[in-house]
Amino acid sequence: MATIFTKIINREIPAYVVAEDKNFIAFLDINPLAEGHTLVVPKREEDYIFDLSDHEISELIVFAKRVAQSIRKVVPCKRIGLSVIGLEVPHAHVHLVPLNTTNDINFAKPKLSFTKEHYVALAQRISATFK
Ligand code: AMP
Repeated sequence: MATIFTKIINREIPAYVVAEDKNFIAFLDINPLAEGHTLVVPKREEDYIFDLSDHEISELIVFAKRVAQSIRKVVPCKRIGLSVIGLEVPHAHVHLVPLNTTNDINFAKPKLSFTKEHYVALAQRISATFK
């Protein structure tokens, strides 16, 4: 069965997409740790990130770098952190999280919630800076 991320890739369910190319997509995490928390996902469905080929994982990180640069232009923060969890959705991905303190990337803390309008505007602003 297709993962929820494959359904997003296939536009079967909506997402706040911030960047996309032939092989990768990035969209806002729906339960963010911080404003601008973004997931970067290879379009080829693979459960565990470290089962990606060397080429795929390299390209994923390079794509994530470009997305992180875009997020940083829009969301005030000291740095963009990158984390791999993968316990909830069995489709390889990395989390990009704007950081001011170490606790900003603590996955055990309560998630934030924003309005749909906020997510739409934020995704558009990040997307507009993506190159
Ligand atoms: P994990 O697999 O543990 O890395 O966690 C999966 C992440 O995907 C969580 O942070 C969820 O909030 C996020 N997530 C799950 N479904 C969606 C969705 N439909 N759109 C955006 N983010 C999602």
